[in-house]
Amino acid sequence: MYDTNNIFAKILRGEIPAAKVHETEHVLAFMDAMPQSDGHTLVIPKVQARNFFDIEPNALAELIKATQVVARGVKDAFKPDGIRIAQFNEPAAGQTVFHLHFHIIPCYEGKALRAHSREMADPALLAQHAERIKAALQTTS
Ligand code: AMP
Repeated sequence: MYDTNNIFAKILRGEIPAAKVHETEHVLAFMDAMPQSDGHTLVIPKVQARNFFDIEPNALAELIKATQVVARGVKDAFKPDGIRIAQFNEPAAGQTVFHLHFHIIPCYEGKALRAHSREMADPALLAQHAERIKAALQTTS
C-alpha cells in the first residue's frame, strides 16, 4: 500500500533536495516543485501514510495544525487574495504522489492557476520563495 520509494519519502530521507520552509518532529513543509501559483507549498507528515485514510488521527491532527501554521506564513509572505487548501486521494481524484500531503495554493485575483503537476519551477526561485515564507513564519511565531 505505502511505497517507501515515493518522491516525498525520498525528500524526508534527504535523498533528493527540496526548498524547505518548516519542519517539526511530526511534519515537513516545502515548496511544490511544479507550483500552480507563486508560494504553492506542500505539508507532509513524517509518518508513512499513503493518503487521508491511511493515517492515525493524532498524526493527522498534527498535520492539519501545521498546515494552518504554514498557510499563515504563506499568507503573510505572498499576500494572496485567497488561499486554497487541497488534498487528493488516489489517481481518480488527482493524486500523483502517494505520500499524504496538503497543498497550500495562493490564489490571486484575475490570475488563473497554472496546471497541476505540469511545469518545473526554477529551483533558485523556489529557494527564494521558501526564504520569504520562513521569514514570515519567524515574525508570526
Ligand atoms: P498530488 O497530485 O496531490 O499527489 O500532488 C503532488 C504534488 O507534488 C504536485 O503538485 C507536484 O507538483 C509536486 N511534486 C512532485 N514532485 C515534487 C518534488 N520532487 N518536490 C516538490 N514537489 C513535487
